[in-house]
Amino acid sequence: MLRRLTEAEIAGVGMTSQRTRDRLIDRVRAKGVCDERVLETMRRTPRHLFMDEALASRAYEDVSLPIGHGQTISQPFVVARMTELLVECLPRRGARVLEIGTGSGYQAAVLAGLAETVYTIERVRALAERAHGRFRQLGLRNVQLRHGDGHEGWPGEAPFDGIIVTAARAQVPAELFAQLAAHGCLVAPVGGSGGQELVRYAPDEEGARQARVHDLVSFVPFVDGRA
Ligand code: SAH
Repeated sequence: MLRRLTEAEIAGVGMTSQRTRDRLIDRVRAKGVCDERVLETMRRTPRHLFMDEALASRAYEDVSLPIGHGQTISQPFVVARMTELLVECLPRRGARVLEIGTGSGYQAAVLAGLAETVYTIERVRALAERAHGRFRQLGLRNVQLRHGDGHEGWPGEAPFDGIIVTAARAQVPAELFAQLAAHGCLVAPVGGSGGQELVRYAPDEEGARQARVHDLVSFVPFVDGRA
């Protein structure tokens, strides 16, 4: 049985202490992230609990790190940037967000502090199970996780106010756009394995969805099917 973690475990010590975390947030802010709600939520989210203990001492460096199965936990700056781009489009209350590519669960945990409900889909069963356990240990009740293929989205819970894709593909699957509310935004790394553009698709005044490139990023690929 998984138990709820204690405040002390969540708080961390030494390389995982609040001081170390605060330094990371300062660094992310210095790189240009300015949404204080996003920064505060990240300051409170214990990234060291979303990776193997052997790597926990590096949890508050601004780098992506391996989580097994050939996957990675995203770089904090990139998580902050994507979250900032997404939350700008969300209603202040009651926002429902879909994430494709749960991975460690870290991005979903950050979103959980900013949206009413986060739906997240992971194709690798072992990662999905581990992330699910973490959400329980942290008492995050507003995250719903599904082991499945993100190409299909989560039709039963659509429409979403925002969709965030955390795996790279040359084109965002049309099914995901179909599950986005008219006012909603979708943020995704678009491109091949050599590197991608971080794109936000947001409606303009006429309601037509426009793509705008915000950064260059490097994500693991968005692949077909479940594993
Ligand atoms: N958001 C994650 C980082 C994700 S790494 C975090 O915060 O840690 C990208 C993840 O997308 C990997 O775990 C990978 O298995 C998953 N993925 C790739 N293709 C997918 C698909 N078709 N459906 C769902 N998940 C997928």
